[in-house]
Amino acid sequence: MKKKKILGLMLAGTLLFSACGKNAGGPHVSTTKVESTSLTEKNESLDENIDVTLETSKENGAEDTKEAISGHEAESTVETKAETTAETTTENTTEITAETTAEILSETSVENTSEITVETTEESTVESTVEPTIASTAETTKETTKETTKAAKDDKEEVTEKTTEGEAGDNYSSKSTIKWNADWKYASFSKINSDSVTLYKTASSSAKNKTIAINAGHGTKGGTSVKTQCHPDGSAKVSGGSTAKGATMATAVSSGTSFLDGTSEAYANLQLAIILKDLLLKNGYDVLMIRESSDSQLDNIARTVFANNNADCHIAIHYDSTETDKGFFFIGAIDVSSYKNMEPVKSHWKEHDDLGKALVSGEKAAGVKIYGGGYMGLDLTQISYSTIPSVDIEVGDRASDYSKATQSKIADGILLGLDEYFGK
Ligand SMILES: [Zn+2]
Repeated sequence: MKKKKILGLMLAGTLLFSACGKNAGGPHVSTTKVESTSLTEKNESLDENIDVTLETSKENGAEDTKEAISGHEAESTVETKAETTAETTTENTTEITAETTAEILSETSVENTSEITVETTEESTVESTVEPTIASTAETTKETTKETTKAAKDDKEEVTEKTTEGEAGDNYSSKSTIKWNADWKYASFSKINSDSVTLYKTASSSAKNKTIAINAGHGTKGGTSVKTQCHPDGSAKVSGGSTAKGATMATAVSSGTSFLDGTSEAYANLQLAIILKDLLLKNGYDVLMIRESSDSQLDNIARTVFANNNADCHIAIHYDSTETDKGFFFIGAIDVSSYKNMEPVKSHWKEHDDLGKALVSGEKAAGVKIYGGGYMGLDLTQISYSTIPSVDIEVGDRASDYSKATQSKIADGILLGLDEYFGK
């Protein structure tokens, strides 16, 4: 009986759900960063972008175009608002990145790039790997870097670029910038990954030693004109959404929906992400912030790969594109056998469901309205590449109230759900 109910819900869900597909254009010029392998890769991805753009315009139907236009108009009215908040909230991060870049640049004049990579990772390696590297040739250095990365990954320890201590009054004891690592599993499937993420360590005396990746959905300029592979094995998408069923390539990052007052979904997602970050840090969780500004150059695969390698679970925050204020639900793996038998979905879909169910239970306890049974099955890029418990939560829709007061209640529910999931 339960199965029947879920199936019905999934059907209804598939009909109702239409994850956002709007246009946000223009090439993005990212800030200067010293990376040892990025030049050739960047050229390649530029070429790919051109192909992909052509493909997109060919594939998109009239309906999509219409949606894109109205969505774009709506977004422009709130652009200033969104950007102002983003700037304020991320001032510190920007500073740190700049500082790091400056430091690295001053070293560049005497040392080569490979050496820099090793130096920045030294915190998570044993001394012996660092010492010979500095004195040796570039070739040896490269090899050592690989080993270092592998060791760091096995230990679930992050490769940090720059760490600063929290000050009195901060709810974190330290924050570290973590940069992209092309050696991570599935990293090669990502097309947009020039930005870093930030790891905040709790200042609470009762640290839980669990890192929650908070992924504020959307917010990647140019993300709609790039395509990435739907599944690691190249198979076709088994459900529709912003990318149609049957496609093997999906929009790298769609621009999201907009609220009835014109505010972009990306703005509200980030606002909730920041509220949630502070709440989780206060309560002993460490937090990996995937996006902290209005534009983060990380596609959905990059966001997932960052979470896979640096967190214990991954929560992507979204608002749905319906207009019924339908309430909170999570998206788990769709119940299609080919999908559930494809890795890494096969090994992880149950833990995604368990995490999602715990979050729904937490939201119920916090008094948040739940949509149906709180669950919808879909084929999402995030699910298709996740190797840790990972859910997309739709915390409301275009007609929902996204005030900070309402979002605080949703954050309370997430905290309760995480406590339930991790058994504390
Ligand atoms: Zn969304």
